[in-house]
Amino acid sequence: MTIDDSASSSEKKRGDQLSSLLKSMGGGGDCDRPACDDTKSALSAALQRVGEARVASKNSTKQSTYTECPPTREEIGTSTWSLLHSMAAWYPTSPTANDQKLMTGFMQALARFYPCTWCATDFQQNIELNPPKTETRDDLCIWLCEQHNVVNQKLGKPLFQCSIDKLDERWRKSTDPKCQK
Ligand SMILES: Cc1cc2nc3c(=O)[nH]c(=O)nc-3n(C[C@H](O)[C@H](O)[C@H](O)COP(=O)(O)OP(=O)(O)OC[C@H]3O[C@@H](n4cnc5c(N)ncnc54)[C@H](O)[C@@H]3O)c2cc1C
Repeated sequence: MTIDDSASSSEKKRGDQLSSLLKSMGGGGDCDRPACDDTKSALSAALQRVGEARVASKNSTKQSTYTECPPTREEIGTSTWSLLHSMAAWYPTSPTANDQKLMTGFMQALARFYPCTWCATDFQQNIELNPPKTETRDDLCIWLCEQHNVVNQKLGKPLFQCSIDKLDERWRKSTDPKCQK
């Protein structure tokens, strides 16, 4: 067997493992949400890593020098905004009373426990002045965009145009070919 044959056979094996894993998780149909794409690529990457780790442990006894450090304020900020805008982008169009209550509670908990204390204090004041708008998906997306702009302005960063079209393009479904996975 050549190296090429062996590579394509392990790719096929990974493809089969991926299909059976997705089936066992109840997937397999069309994926609407990006989370589904992410699940596929995360599973595929995990299977690849397992394969590579097996080969590496056979071939080498060297210790990895890679260190994972706690996130910086900037990293936490960017990750948090990504989560918040994505949650808003996929919030129900007609949320139930309970959905609205949970989302408001989530924002309040974030403002209470956000790990940068002075950011948290400002965010608490901001959401007291302008409480979360949770009646519809559009309301929530635009409210959050305005909250993010309050912080952007404070930090001298560019402001984002808070229209639902711009927000969906950035956070829900981009038309940019570079964003197609
Ligand atoms: C609740 C909260 C409060 C914070 N308060 C502070 C603070 O007081 N002081 C501080 O130093 N840092 C604070 N941060 C962190 C700060 O906002 C940034 O996340 C951090 O400085 C990194 O900035 P960035 O340039 O990577 O882009 P980020 O501001 O993290 O933005 C990430 C991406 O979001 C998109 N985006 C930008 N603005 C908007 C918008 N209005 N609506 C939708 N999408 C947008 C852009 O594509 C951008 O690249 C806070 C973060 C959060 C979540």
